[in-house]
Amino acid sequence: MAPERGADPRKIIHVDMDAYYASVEQRDNPELRGKPLAVGGAAARGVVAAASYEARAFGVRSAMPSVTAKRKCPELIFVPPRFDVYRAVSAQIRDVFAEHTDLIEPLSLDEAYLDVTQNRLNIASASTIAELIRAKILEVTGLTASAGISYNKFLAKMASDQNKPNGQFVITPRHGPAFVETLPVKKFHGVGPATAAKMEGLGIETGADLRDKSLPFLQQHFGKAGLWYYQIARAIDERAVEPDRPRKSIGAEDTFASDIVDLDASIAELKPLVAKVWGYCEDKGIRGRTVTLKVKFADFQQITRSRTVALPIEYSDFEELAGDLLRSVFPLRKGIRLLGITLSSLGDVPLPDQRQLRFEL
Ligand SMILES: [Mg+2]
Repeated sequence: MAPERGADPRKIIHVDMDAYYASVEQRDNPELRGKPLAVGGAAARGVVAAASYEARAFGVRSAMPSVTAKRKCPELIFVPPRFDVYRAVSAQIRDVFAEHTDLIEPLSLDEAYLDVTQNRLNIASASTIAELIRAKILEVTGLTASAGISYNKFLAKMASDQNKPNGQFVITPRHGPAFVETLPVKKFHGVGPATAAKMEGLGIETGADLRDKSLPFLQQHFGKAGLWYYQIARAIDERAVEPDRPRKSIGAEDTFASDIVDLDASIAELKPLVAKVWGYCEDKGIRGRTVTLKVKFADFQQITRSRTVALPIEYSDFEELAGDLLRSVFPLRKGIRLLGITLSSLGDVPLPDQRQLRFEL
């Protein structure tokens, strides 16, 4: 339980592995060390799932189309992902966390929040715990991690980026508000490019600009999220660290700068959304059977199209089903302003022998 306000501050750590998938590949294949590396598909329609620091120096980023990445870095080496290995390493990392606390909230295979206000070894300093965790992760996995230490999740997450890679950073209650003040809003966790652009249009570029706006102003322009922005501008985030809970659906959506009118363009916009949802599924080791497409038109009318199949779908089926659903809304009578894709009817990745069994049946 989070303490009441006015009680002692909580101690939250955000641990983030450095260039996780790429680092695992470099660890396991010495020939890849020191080289620009992308984990993902090299094919024309592939997307970079993760980039090594050597590749990042060329501007290669995760979620970037492989074609773009190759243009930025011609000597880029592509390696197919090995999610079973990443999941196994992730389990080792969780075990390290569990030496200190039960309050572990994984965000993905390589990131988690830990609440160490109370901790097993009764260590008073959260910075010390972060150091111990990072050293143990290195010892057990051969991989480096960075950590952010603070009194809430928002700040801990921002802090873990400060001394990356292989570093850590503390934001104390005394320094929280000043830290947020100087930060560009586009760097805020949870503020995407569309929101950042909207904020910029309202003259909000930094945390200080955001703090200058009244709560009614923010609610008028950002609806429910207005209160959240009001609070984080003041370095307030009361969200508890919540241990893993099962999810009912996984989705991604995007609002476009200008409305989309043709099929090819909308298919092209759909692909990264499918890839994003899939990446999450791979991270968590889950699969789904229901694909739902959401389309919001220029006049804000919204429709959904859905299809459920008998067996958990794999990536190529997912992409195809999503494409079929999108094709079914064509021809259009008005432009598309938003596309979303959701996967539901979720379950764990079937074990190999379960897959086998299905084929035999
Ligand atoms: Mg990471």
